[in-house]
Amino acid sequence: MQFRSTRASLSGVASSCSASEAITRGLAADGGLYVPAKMPALTWPEGPVPPLADVATQFLTPFFEGDPLQDQLHAICHEAFNFPIDLVPLEGEAVSLLELFHGPTAAFKDFGARFLAACFARLEASADDPLTILVATSGDTGGAVAAAFHGRQGVAVDVLFPRGQVSPRQEHQLTCWGDNVRAFRVDGPFDACQKLVKDAFVHPGLNARRRLSSANSINLGRLLPQASYYVWASLAQRQATGAAPSFVIPTGNLGNGLACVWAQQCGAPINHIHFATNDNRTVPRFFAGDPWTPKDSIATLANAMDVGNPSNMERLRDLFDDDQLRQRFSASFVNDDAIRQQIVHDERERGQTLCPHTATAMHAYDHHIARSVRDGQHYVVVATAHPAKFESVVEPLIGREVEVPANLRSLLELPSHAVDLPAQLDALLAYYP
Ligand SMILES: *Cc1c(COP(=O)(O)O)cnc(C)c1O
Repeated sequence: MQFRSTRASLSGVASSCSASEAITRGLAADGGLYVPAKMPALTWPEGPVPPLADVATQFLTPFFEGDPLQDQLHAICHEAFNFPIDLVPLEGEAVSLLELFHGPTAAFKDFGARFLAACFARLEASADDPLTILVATSGDTGGAVAAAFHGRQGVAVDVLFPRGQVSPRQEHQLTCWGDNVRAFRVDGPFDACQKLVKDAFVHPGLNARRRLSSANSINLGRLLPQASYYVWASLAQRQATGAAPSFVIPTGNLGNGLACVWAQQCGAPINHIHFATNDNRTVPRFFAGDPWTPKDSIATLANAMDVGNPSNMERLRDLFDDDQLRQRFSASFVNDDAIRQQIVHDERERGQTLCPHTATAMHAYDHHIARSVRDGQHYVVVATAHPAKFESVVEPLIGREVEVPANLRSLLELPSHAVDLPAQLDALLAYYP
């Protein structure tokens, strides 16, 4: 399987490459995002559904055909997906929760980050000088990447996060590692962290001293593995109800949503797909008929979805034209008040404690999916983070403490350490002698 840039036809450069190359490069040379040259058509027979790692191996095999990692795909999937995934039916309703938060950092980003790390470990095994992965994070990404790469030979991870703008538990997940992982607490907003990383990538002196790479959510090595849990969940749900389910997905940068679309394109039994955003309304405005108009992001309670210019829209628009997109998919937004109300409602009425991100999707299911569409359908609402990660939002609303799961608790018990950094490139460069 070959991958091409979303901008290949514009730039006129036929720059196709293998999965491994796309994963190592991150972004295509013309600034576009890597997409499969052709979506493989897979068939999924009815019957008992194998564990996620086996479904993932089967699903990903055509994408890695002819790739240096082809023979190791089984090992990579089993190493990366070594934690539970759960599909929880809600009593008396035609809806289930797909719990993707049982990994080391209690959010769905563990799936992509762990798969990426397992790939890099094998691709870098014979490299002479270590690779430095630079990540700017506004919350969950940095923690998942740090956890996934911690202790691996030949790779160092440096995470930059904005002082005072991540939750205390998120900060702890960024700063508790040590060894090959360093955390920089930057005196500035997330945009300043991102700018430092971008400037570092193009700094000639630094590039002469270090081999740099990124692990952000546009990397193919994070997207492809995410599609495999949609294959798994749709098969499991079809097995339970006899029909293809529909999905409601909490959406920020559209990586998780796009993964579901790719799974559908590859023949997974998926009916309707709905993208639920917070008050960052770029995506729902587009699906309501407005032209594509990226905005600056605004801060909300569901902070891992505070994205005003979702990068993966470029991949979605590569797959379908705008009219097709609006016919096939739908989207809605939710403000902070509605998120709070939803958390209270689901605690009382459904006995489910939701994180603010998952609450946006449950709100969309309750209020924005027309009865006519919902009737006779089974829906899966995607639960992207454990509520204990956002206890400062959730606990005051439900009036009790949220029990911290064991994986998260053991991280919170580790000592934490961060380097305080002014938002200046020179200050960062001093750490790469
Ligand atoms: C990153 C994240 C999202 C948004 O996912 P995208 O792939 O960026 O759309 C939603 N919920 C949580 C908890 C996240 O960490």
